[in-house]
Amino acid sequence: MSTRQKVLCIDDEKVNLKIFSDILKDDVDVIMAKSGEQGIRKAIELKPDLILLDITMPGMDGFETIIQLKNNPQSSAIPVIFVTGELDINKEERGFELGACDYIQKPFHAVSLKARVVLHLELARQRHLLEHMVNFDPLTSIANRRRYDEVLNVEYLNARKEQSVLSVAMIDIDFFKPYNDHYGHDAGDKALRSVAQVLSEQLQRSGDFVARYGGEEFVVILAKTDQNGAQAVLEACCKAVEGLGIEHLKSENSSVLTVSIGGSCCIPQQFSDVTAALKIADQYLYKAKRNGKNQVVWQEAEDLSLNLKVTNSA
Ligand code: GH3
Ligand code: MG
Ligand code: MG
Repeated sequence: MSTRQKVLCIDDEKVNLKIFSDILKDDVDVIMAKSGEQGIRKAIELKPDLILLDITMPGMDGFETIIQLKNNPQSSAIPVIFVTGELDINKEERGFELGACDYIQKPFHAVSLKARVVLHLELARQRHLLEHMVNFDPLTSIANRRRYDEVLNVEYLNARKEQSVLSVAMIDIDFFKPYNDHYGHDAGDKALRSVAQVLSEQLQRSGDFVARYGGEEFVVILAKTDQNGAQAVLEACCKAVEGLGIEHLKSENSSVLTVSIGGSCCIPQQFSDVTAALKIADQYLYKAKRNGKNQVVWQEAEDLSLNLKVTNSA
């Protein structure tokens, strides 16, 4: 990664902020905050890779600041190092208990501060890389099936709690085997990347999620979206893929690459099965294929009872 990492320094003394900046500015982008409140705001807004935090500050002290940082999902993963004049071992212990990754006492040597900052930045970089490898598909750079399983579980439980509608869709590229056979595997990979890209562009709302399920299949989760809304979004996805205009001379229904989509909605019931909605979407994908492909087929209204039956049977 070539982009510079960002370190947020939170300290009420201007002179300390200047010292941090002088030591670190050649290696990282230094962000400064002179209070806990300002630090939390900047952490959420600017997403630093590491935070250096003073303990003794007027108003919100370092302990209160780290508690708030760790309680907010937008900042909880950012490592925090306490840099403090406090010599009390109990305070050091409390700092670690609250989630700090290191504790540096003032006065410190510039070299040791820098070495520890560099070490924790490297650990953060490796952690991000690992998270990315675990959750994203290397070919298309969109979420992978593992991440889909996680997101589906979360959204399913939310929908069950709130009794809101959850829509799920399965997307499969049409005549992709003949595409690979005719244009070659590299062209197939390129087409997969383009389809993934255009699907993510169409699914940008919060609550929208798309992942590569495997091979040339993608899955979509639309939280709090009923059949009308979901069907409109998926129709747009279908058109957008066609709109890419990827030549497909071996397709039997079009001159360009297309997809078929099957979808289903449910309001999850107690004891229901999280995988049932996707099974139904898959059945409708099969219908879309049989009906001639390049289309969206959504669960029919009379089958909603089937949906509930399936979801309740688990
Ligand atoms: P249908 O229209 O009914 O969906 O038929 P199809 O040919 O698309 O489907 P089938 O399941 O028979 O073939 C899927 C093909 O997708 C097989 C393989 O050649 C291709 N494929 C799966 N994963 C990859 C991949 O990662 N890269 C490339 N290039 N091709 C892939
Ligand atoms: Mg397939
Ligand atoms: Mg296919």
